[in-house]
Amino acid sequence: MASTRFPSCTKTPIDEQIQKLYDRVKARDPEQKEFLQAFGEILWTLKPVFEKDPKYIKVLETIAEPERVITFRVPWIDDAGVQQVNRGYRVQFSSALGPYKGGLRLHPSVHLGIIKFLGFEQILKNSLTGLPLGGGKGGSDFDPKGKSDNEVMKFCQSFMTALYKHIGADVDVPAGDIGVGGREIGFLYGQYKRITGQFEGVLTGKHTRWGGSLIRSEATGYGAVYFAENWAADNSLPIKGARCLISGSGNVAQYTVEKLLHLGAIPLTLSDSSGYVLEPNGFTQDQLEKIMELKNVTRGRISDYCKMSSTAQFFAGKKPWEVKNCVLAFPSATQNEIDENDATQLAANGCRLVVEGANMPSSNEAIEVYKKKGVGFCPGKAANAGGVAVSGLEMSQNSSRTSWSREEVDARLKQIMKHIYTSCKNASEEYGVKGDIQSGANIAGFLKVADSVIDQGCV
Ligand code: NDP
Repeated sequence: MASTRFPSCTKTPIDEQIQKLYDRVKARDPEQKEFLQAFGEILWTLKPVFEKDPKYIKVLETIAEPERVITFRVPWIDDAGVQQVNRGYRVQFSSALGPYKGGLRLHPSVHLGIIKFLGFEQILKNSLTGLPLGGGKGGSDFDPKGKSDNEVMKFCQSFMTALYKHIGADVDVPAGDIGVGGREIGFLYGQYKRITGQFEGVLTGKHTRWGGSLIRSEATGYGAVYFAENWAADNSLPIKGARCLISGSGNVAQYTVEKLLHLGAIPLTLSDSSGYVLEPNGFTQDQLEKIMELKNVTRGRISDYCKMSSTAQFFAGKKPWEVKNCVLAFPSATQNEIDENDATQLAANGCRLVVEGANMPSSNEAIEVYKKKGVGFCPGKAANAGGVAVSGLEMSQNSSRTSWSREEVDARLKQIMKHIYTSCKNASEEYGVKGDIQSGANIAGFLKVADSVIDQGCV
């Protein structure tokens, strides 16, 4: 966190202003530790911006306060006929660049601090895509795991009944995140349509039969690998033949593995909250398809994969970062899944690049280790922006009542990931932190939003 990052003997006046800003933000919501972590990480890397023009310190303070926070009750009836209740959230963080845009997360760990961290990151991520998208995020502490399709539908309908009045194709456009895939988007969309009578692009990640974009499912994982390709080309790192560690086994992880296979890399691991599986010679496309079936259709645990492969090994309660001789790591599960020890282990095992498919999977201490040990680092807000970028393309297709081919969307995704990489790299050079993609992402993403906030006056 920012408060622990200032060497006490070398504080400059800007350091002190940054520290005071951190303290003010922390005083408002001291219990929101994930939000404060995300805020502290961005705050510190913006120091070169503040040194050039201190007016941006106040602008950041404005941006760090959401425009609107909506919380609501979500009552629903389970299959036994018993009424249940969850808490729903939508944080409409910033509309400086366009309608609020960001996913919905359904996971028992969800609370306001999690949604605010995700929403805050989303502002800069959406800015980096170059598309006209504001930042928002939402979700609930509902756990879809172990629930029947009927229970998930009941929950989604109740959630949308509370949310519909706050969203709209030109207002706020939610999408998926952890626990929200095609099934949930379908139920949410159906209820929105039923209440409002509008068939409009109010959600992204829709099925391609009814307004979704081709490549949206693949976009985050493919985009992360495209981002890695850009970094690798600049740093003489061959992707072909590279041994790769991937965590998670949901949407992002699955399509990261698929794109790595297209490029001839060797994806070795996948995980869920119970542990990880290692396929010692790397997953094949056939094996990946079995995992997709297991995770997306039968909704089993990753350990069940070992029943389908005689070579796979399962490591209960462990994370993939302990596997030796791996060059690339794609954390694609959840926040803070790589701590300082994991990062040290990754570096010792030969990792040259960490590309974040998940949001904030590396703790701030882990990022310090990457920097100290010379491990390249592509932060989530840049590397996983392919998902929201194709969501933006889905919105464009919906507005113009057209649909683009797979090839066209994929080409645009590739182009957007290249643009993001170049923006991060250029910003890092312009602000004196050459090659630091983390700082470059924060600076480039922030400046566009900050200047737009200034243009639009005190609102
Ligand atoms: P999914 O719900 O499809 O998959 C999530 C995966 O992460 C599951 O394998 C899940 O395992 C695992 N996971 C969740 N919590 C934990 C935990 N505490 N410990 C270990 N594993 C865990 O989600 P997505 O693939 O969509 O999202 C993954 C990450 O990518 C998230 O950080 C999300 O915010 C981010 N992201 C997603 C985008 C998208 O387009 N979907 C876009 C940009 C970022 P289990 O089933 O055991 O919970």
